[in-house]
Formats: sequence, C-alpha cells, structure tokens
Amino acid sequence: MKRLVFLSAILLLTLAVGCSQPASDESAETKNKTTFVTIGTGGITGVYYPTGGAIAKIVNKKRDEYGIRATVESTGGSVFNVNAIMAGDLEFGVVQSDRQYQAINGEKEWEGNAQSDLRAVFSIHPESVTVLAAVDAGIKTIADLKGKHVNIGNPGSGQRGNAIDALEAAGLNWETDIKAESVKAAEAPGLLQDDRIDAFFYTVGHPSGAFKEATSGRRKTRFVSITDTDELIKKFPYYAKSYIPAGLYPGAANEEDNPTFGVKATFCTSAKVSDDVVYAITKEVFENFEDFKKLHPAYQVLTKKSMLEGLSAPIHAGAMKYYKEAGLM
Ligand code: GLU
Repeated sequence: MKRLVFLSAILLLTLAVGCSQPASDESAETKNKTTFVTIGTGGITGVYYPTGGAIAKIVNKKRDEYGIRATVESTGGSVFNVNAIMAGDLEFGVVQSDRQYQAINGEKEWEGNAQSDLRAVFSIHPESVTVLAAVDAGIKTIADLKGKHVNIGNPGSGQRGNAIDALEAAGLNWETDIKAESVKAAEAPGLLQDDRIDAFFYTVGHPSGAFKEATSGRRKTRFVSITDTDELIKKFPYYAKSYIPAGLYPGAANEEDNPTFGVKATFCTSAKVSDDVVYAITKEVFENFEDFKKLHPAYQVLTKKSMLEGLSAPIHAGAMKYYKEAGLM
C-alpha cells in the first residue's frame, strides 16, 4: 500500500512537470500547425521519465512560437529508445552514453548493425551503475553476488549491459554464476522487499524514486561497492569512476559514499527529424538552463559545457546550429 501511494505521488508529480493533456479549447488552426514529438524515457521511478517531462515542459511553453507539442512516453529504457528512434516510432529518447556509443559504432546489441542515422542532441545528468542488496543476503562487493538471485534488468534497458560488464570484471558469468532475473527496474524494489531477489542492478541518476522506494522498506538494504573498475575503464572508453553519495538515501545501511562506475544520460534523435524541431528544443533547454536545472536534484552538477560532453554520435544539424549561434562550439 505504502509503495502504491509512493508510486502515485511520483506519477502525479511527473504529470505536473510536463505531461498534461492538450487544452481542450485549442483552435483547429493551432492543431493543424502543430508538430507532435514523443520523447522516450524509462520507468516512472527512474530519472529519464521526469527528464522527458522537464524537456517537454520547457518546449511546450513556447508552443505558440514553434508549434511543437512534446509528449513523454515511459519505456523499457536506453536500448528500446535507440531502436524506437531508428524505427521512427519516437522522435527523441533519453539514452545512456555507452549505449549511444555502441549503437553508432555497431557494438553489443548492434553488433554488425551500426545505427548510422542516430544523432546526439546534448547530454544530461550522470548515471551510476548501482547495485542494491538486502543486508541479510551478506553481499558487500560484486564478487559476493555469486550464487545469488539478482535482477540485471530487462533486455531494452541500459543497465543490463552494465550489469554483465560489472559481473565479468569480477570474474562472474551472468548466465552460470548468478541466478539472473530480467525484469524492469520499476519492479525490482518490490521483489527485493518481498524476499524474491537478493539484489538488483539499475543504472540511474541519483536520487531516484526506485532507490527511495527500495531503501525505505521493512527489509534492510545496502549499496554494493564496485571497486575493480580500472580494467573496465581501460577497456571501455565510455565508463568512468563514480560514486553514490552517502546520505541521499537515509534508509540504506551505508555510512560512506559508495564507489562504482558510471555513464551519462544523453538526449538523442534521428538524422531524419527536422532541423527546426531539434533547433527549437535545444535552444529552449539551453536558454532556460537555470530553470531546467531546478527540475530535478540529479541536474545539480550540470553546466552548459558538461551537456556537450559524452556524445559519440554526430551532433544533429539543428542542435549544432544553436551551439554555433550561442558560441558553445
Ligand atoms: N539508464 C536506464 C536505462 O537506460 C534508465 C534510467 C532512468 O530511467 O532514469 O534503461
């Protein structure tokens, strides 16, 4: 029940941020001129969903000027978003920087199938590869996951690949050394609290609803440290060291910052989306940067410069037009 109330609160908050329905009194003329764009995000307890809402909110304010109406869709995550953008089912999507790199270079899920039309718009908040375990499962490091029941994420998610990489770096094979589950991150806190899994992976910005929920239940939890990351970072150019600050989740047993590695959330589109639409969205987010930053605590560390880092796909021509105009490139 508590969980239900919590999820409803997040949903209401997000709806208030930018997913409201079109006003019913809009004229037929405005409707005709409107370009509808959909932003693919992630589960509603992550940071992508409110991020899509924040971008939509800022862009929709200028609907009269640009005729753009942005809406947000909850999805399975990064891999799903790349594929849906490429299929033309979504115009935009939030995508982990490692997934952007793999898609444009034809690696991992896109082995031999480079997504050459994928375009970067800007990057957003940092995301940490996060593992939360039940204290009663006795898991302190990744190596302790051996033999345990662990959710590594649904196939469309970004975290699934990070989980496999982190396990491999610790000498564990995800198919044989752990009992792997493949459910969406939004379901993992419930499974952990119901004693059905021992731990779960989620690559996400902090703080996030998922970890607030998972650390506030009856079953005590702890963030698991990932310290053997030197080789991983050497091998994969898109990974960097990161940590989950102590104190963000008072319910967790950790007293100190928890070391791990991470990536960045990035905003992506297709070369087929018009320059005007991408220009307008880029311009509105950058020109309203201070307002944008206030929309989620995970954006605290953002600078305009940092939003142009971590992009491996070519920058969309519409976004580039704005960056040149603004002297950012
Ligand atoms: N990084 C996750 C993914 O790519 C989503 C995180 C979020 O929704 O904030 O699937």
